[in-house]
Amino acid sequence: MNDHAIEYPAEPWKIKSVEPIRQTSRPYREQAIRQAGWNPCLLRSEDVYIDLFTDSGTNAMSDRQWAALMTGDEAYAGARSFYVLERAVRTYYGYEHVIPVHQGRGGENIVSRCLIRPGSHIPGNMFFPSTRAHQELNGATFHDVVIDEAHDPSSDHPFKGDVDLAKLAAVIGEYGDAIPYVSLAATVNMAGGQPISMANLAAVRELTGRHGIPIMFDAARAVENAWFVKQREAGWGDRSIAEILLAMCSFTDGAVMSSKKDSFANIGGWIGLRDGELAERARSLALLYEGLHTYGGMAGRDMEAVARGIEESVEESSIRARVGQVEYLGHRLLAAGVPVVRPIGGHCVCIDALAVLPLLPREEFPGQTLAAALYVEGGIRGVERGGLSAGRDPVTGENRYPPMELVRLAIPRRVYTRAHLDMVADCVIRVHEERDRIKRGLRFVHEPSHLRFFQARFVPADGDSIFGG
Ligand SMILES: *Cc1c(COP(=O)(O)O)cnc(C)c1O
Repeated sequence: MNDHAIEYPAEPWKIKSVEPIRQTSRPYREQAIRQAGWNPCLLRSEDVYIDLFTDSGTNAMSDRQWAALMTGDEAYAGARSFYVLERAVRTYYGYEHVIPVHQGRGGENIVSRCLIRPGSHIPGNMFFPSTRAHQELNGATFHDVVIDEAHDPSSDHPFKGDVDLAKLAAVIGEYGDAIPYVSLAATVNMAGGQPISMANLAAVRELTGRHGIPIMFDAARAVENAWFVKQREAGWGDRSIAEILLAMCSFTDGAVMSSKKDSFANIGGWIGLRDGELAERARSLALLYEGLHTYGGMAGRDMEAVARGIEESVEESSIRARVGQVEYLGHRLLAAGVPVVRPIGGHCVCIDALAVLPLLPREEFPGQTLAAALYVEGGIRGVERGGLSAGRDPVTGENRYPPMELVRLAIPRRVYTRAHLDMVADCVIRVHEERDRIKRGLRFVHEPSHLRFFQARFVPADGDSIFGG
């Protein structure tokens, strides 16, 4: 037995409906990635065998969720399905005011417009691309106040999503009244799906409370965070996931939810708020940007699927299998010596591209290069989370190079089998063993101004391939 052997929890579901996927040849994939401008995001999904680009909206809905679709009330105003969603959010997340939005970023737009003014400053436990983009579009400056360990892929800190209270106090000391809220994420995506502890949430609440600063919660993966609290934090092991989730949210004043994550939905989201006056303002903006405040860009049936998904997400067997699958993949890679972010996160395994390709300069985007190589090797699609995703500084226009340059393999919920995960592991291990074959990185031929990683196009920095030449 090696140290990294890990139990693979049997799934609490069986498969009722399947979707064919297709393997392709290596020459086919080399051609495909070239046509996609060396950006896996621009590949056709049919050309991908195992798609780990994101766990967002790519989940398998349950038979109960599909059945719930048929009960959707498509009334323009006051649909019954809205009240079903409202009850689920109030019950499991505890926010009194619930405003549906088409997906998370719709909520980010509205919350940012309500609360941010030019010159605002927003501290947060690491940035998320769409969240920070909305904050910056509205004139705010984002301040990363996550603990240093979050930026160290090899640190085994159990709560790498924790806020560094001294950093937060310093930002409050400097900008005080110009801080409309603190932006907190549960399981920090850019750190590799790392949780925030309950103790830290309480401490942040205490500190911000003294200054009258609200906390806005990014709840996309709060259920996964609740699972880690149950596993790792003293005093919470005997509590249910639902109790922990509610306790986490109780430290916050509002939340934006992307239901495409924890809630197993293909689309949808909501804003949850405690303050009635702020909720009124948010509803009036929702009217302009999303839809009436009782559907917010979602069909009635989507609200039914989200409500049902919320209930399923807090079932312990469900979240155990979900996180266990991710940990299984991560530990297979660790056992083979592949440098991945530790501890293994809740929704993804992140490969440390700087450790795999130490000779490639940052300007040639080692993460993006490694993501392209994984696709060519095995038809597996991951996403860069490094310099390309970080974009340019809005003031100086310089590239931002975050300390970590990762390739994220996000695992959709209830979609892939253990054999698929073994294929992914074998492919990553092969690319790692043969990493010397990757000689050059990539340079832009098209660079979009916002969220550039989605649509950027590249060519190899030298020659016509990243392999040799
Ligand atoms: C997905 C996500 C968002 C944005 O939500 P969308 O539904 O993709 O618009 C915001 N924050 C986090 C942490 C997310 O994972």
